[in-house]
Amino acid sequence: MGSTTKYIFITGGVTSSLGKGIIAASLAKLLQARGFSATIQKFDPYLNIDPGTLNPYEHGECYVTEDGAETDLDLGHYERFLNTPTSQANNITTGRIYNNVITKERKGEYLGKTVQVIPHITDEIKRNFFKLGEEGKYDVVITEIGGCVGDIESLPFIEAVRQAKWDIGPNNILVVHLTLIPYLAAAKELKTKPTQHSVKQLLEAGIQPDILVCRTEHHLPLEVKKKLALFCNVQLNCVIEAMDAETIYDVPLLMKKEKLDERVMSKLKLTSKVNTDLEQWKDFLGRLKNPTQEVNIGLIGKYVSLPDAYKSIIEAFVHAGAACECKVHLTLISSEELLPENVAKKLEHLDGILVAPGFGERGLEGKIETVKFARENKLPFFGICLGMQVAVIEFARNVLGLKGANSTEMDPNTPHPVIDLMADQKNIEMKGGTMRLGSYPCELRKGSKAAQAYGKAKVKERHRHRYEFNNKYLKQIEEKGMIPSGINPESQLVEIIELKNHPWFLGTQFHPEYKSTVMNPHPLFVKFVTATIDNKKSNI
Ligand code: GLN
Repeated sequence: MGSTTKYIFITGGVTSSLGKGIIAASLAKLLQARGFSATIQKFDPYLNIDPGTLNPYEHGECYVTEDGAETDLDLGHYERFLNTPTSQANNITTGRIYNNVITKERKGEYLGKTVQVIPHITDEIKRNFFKLGEEGKYDVVITEIGGCVGDIESLPFIEAVRQAKWDIGPNNILVVHLTLIPYLAAAKELKTKPTQHSVKQLLEAGIQPDILVCRTEHHLPLEVKKKLALFCNVQLNCVIEAMDAETIYDVPLLMKKEKLDERVMSKLKLTSKVNTDLEQWKDFLGRLKNPTQEVNIGLIGKYVSLPDAYKSIIEAFVHAGAACECKVHLTLISSEELLPENVAKKLEHLDGILVAPGFGERGLEGKIETVKFARENKLPFFGICLGMQVAVIEFARNVLGLKGANSTEMDPNTPHPVIDLMADQKNIEMKGGTMRLGSYPCELRKGSKAAQAYGKAKVKERHRHRYEFNNKYLKQIEEKGMIPSGINPESQLVEIIELKNHPWFLGTQFHPEYKSTVMNPHPLFVKFVTATIDNKKSNI
């Protein structure tokens, strides 16, 4: 393990959904602001090798990294906060750990031994704990342990944390436990008992947390903090209050106020190389909270009852809105509700429309109606991945007059497969990790809206899809005014389409939302929001 790298583990207790990812990202942000290089990794206790095969309803969005890993959505928060890329090594599941161990067993690497959870699984977990630190690039590696302390599934991870403490010594490792302090309205009291129990569970597993971060809806009075310190065996100044925040982007500043970074630094014997500078972050918050205008944008998709399914898109609008000093009211609309007879009524109040990524046929016709409405009414339109493919299908059907045009994903027998499988996808039978994944180059056509938005000629964006624009139809669509304004220079695949005679109608085969961060709002989202503002003004 990297001898100078410090390791921070974040565990969770009492309930899930307390925001371990945001606390991890905020702490990393504060350490980064003090001049340390920090990265965050997430260990998830489920048996899937990665979340790529999970339904978004189960687990929210699948976030894709530069190197094409399909990962947990918390990695999106890490990148949005830190503005540095993550990779496959930043997200490990129990499934991957077992897969590695079983593969080694078959190779004979444990010849003669009985392969067991302890030490073989825990050794493999620890190897992965230290992997990023060993690259020598990071002063601090923060590891978020998914799930809740006490869950059967997370036991091997917790045990590996206990062992890691002995392996690398007490000044190099720290455990932060995130917990909930519920408020009982009837008793008008904040309750510490669930936290006491969850810390006991950690202690039973041999881990004494160093810092408690307590999620609460009310300020924690000193007596409550003292009680927590006493019963949970932590220093009083290591009981950190984490009040519910107006936006997740407030959390780094709230944690700074609570001195979380100072506590961590003193426990790990880290001395700051520079003074904290969160000026740019504060500037972003200022613009986010003081918008001078507002727009209504519709997000048309299939998984609308769980906003986490579109996490990165929603956050990209937060970044772009702040850049434009504009409050973006985003309404999630199920495409299954949209029919030719009601589409105008349901969409006419919107200043712009985004058709979301997705898989499968359900809701497709509603998306096609949406695109038609946006195209004909010159409403700003942004299509992402499936959203771009639907824009092509709609154009083929209604402008080129190709009846029954479709993607072969939805209709394998379509007479006009305007979206089709690439040759190298045709023989793939395995589902996990076999899409076109990760970063690919894209050359932009001079003078196009895409080139104007990016302000450069060549970009790299991240992909996650199996189907592609079918280049047999390239000439036809271009003749009628749909321009392929972004092309992959290596494969000639169409990566961006846009309409000539429309204020802003653009679709991307890639997912721009994965690369939008607080410090670098994505230019296509910024330009789309700008187009919706202009559209709104022109209608007044
Ligand atoms: N289902 C489409 C494909 O596989 C689009 C995927 C997506 O929107 N991410 O090509």
